[in-house]
Amino acid sequence: MVLHRLAVFVLAPCVLLFPPVSALGQASAKPKPHVVVVSVNGMELDVIRPLLLEGKMPNLSSVIKKGAYGKLRTVSAPNCPRVFSTMFTSTEPEEHGVTGFIVGGITANTNMLKQEPIWSILSKNHVTVGMTNVPATFPVMPVNGYMISGMLTRGKNCEDGVLCAPKLSEVEGGDAVYPPSLKAELLKNVGDFYIDCERMPSAADLQGHESAEIDAWLAKVQLIRDQQTRLFAYILDHHPTDFTWLGQSCEDRTGHWLYPIAPYNAGYNPKINAVRTEAFPDQYVAFDKVLGEILKHVDENTYLIIVSDHGIKPLREFEETDPHAHMDHGKTTPVIAKHDFADGDDVPGSFFAMGPGIKQNLRLMGFAASVYDIAPTILHLYGIEQPPQMRGHVLSDIFVNAGKTVAER
Ligand SMILES: [Zn+2]
Repeated sequence: MVLHRLAVFVLAPCVLLFPPVSALGQASAKPKPHVVVVSVNGMELDVIRPLLLEGKMPNLSSVIKKGAYGKLRTVSAPNCPRVFSTMFTSTEPEEHGVTGFIVGGITANTNMLKQEPIWSILSKNHVTVGMTNVPATFPVMPVNGYMISGMLTRGKNCEDGVLCAPKLSEVEGGDAVYPPSLKAELLKNVGDFYIDCERMPSAADLQGHESAEIDAWLAKVQLIRDQQTRLFAYILDHHPTDFTWLGQSCEDRTGHWLYPIAPYNAGYNPKINAVRTEAFPDQYVAFDKVLGEILKHVDENTYLIIVSDHGIKPLREFEETDPHAHMDHGKTTPVIAKHDFADGDDVPGSFFAMGPGIKQNLRLMGFAASVYDIAPTILHLYGIEQPPQMRGHVLSDIFVNAGKTVAER
């Protein structure tokens, strides 16, 4: 019943009203604010801060100086689909329906959404929307622009869609690209690419050749990141939209099993955890380079929002829950860090924003911002009233003139 109602409510008007992607750029009658969101799955501030001090993340450093940043309160037992769908809708997981990786025995997907996501609200308000590799957006939905799915996309060798990496050409069980014509264009001009980060190896894969397996896995992660960077550059160059959301997810995946833990931490195995202790921090150094590419498309009139759904911390001996609870392939992956702690405040996400009318060099203290506030704040930038079901609030503290709709033109 719910799916049927949503299909009528959200999808039908999109099909009728939205221009084809080729018409973007000429379609809008008056200019709308440019907003670029970059989401990083599981970005951990405890790891980021030393890298910033060492000067290893110059691009994120520049964003912090030019804008506002702080922790982002997340939901309880946070994981990617659960939190991203909360950001999309500003409603609680039980309200929007995507409560975890698997819901009622089925891999989380967009058909489960019981609340209207931000891409639909923006599209209805004639904002052009582009979303690339954002988690929990498979199968893609019609928007006033384009959508390329991310984590939880199903495909060959990734039939359940959980924490694995089908290529665009190997996607099965739904569409990974809207409009369909964009798929052929991407395959032609960007080449085939992995749509999500690599699945982690199992204990059996690692046994006896840990170093070689880890090196090969990290090389694949960088290959995927390079492909995503090429995709971002192409899509930003050739299909500019008012609202753009780009997703990264390899950092979190790496942290789960290569977090640089100490021998006294739970799950420490020197054969794995003494091998590439720089691998996890290096993910953020690599991310900073991706951010540098994105920043080439961010001028002084563009809003840039960098957001993470949660952090990630080493396992704890005293934690009673199964540390592999959110893992895939029979829970065999040797994870040593996780984020689905019962208290979400143990693993806050993070928030960075800069743009016209946003205060500079502002640190948000405590939990001034939450994942519920992302959608209302984006709508505010476009002068769109917050729908009544949304539980968050506009992050007015970050704006120089909080009383006004800053981006109204
Ligand atoms: Zn994770």
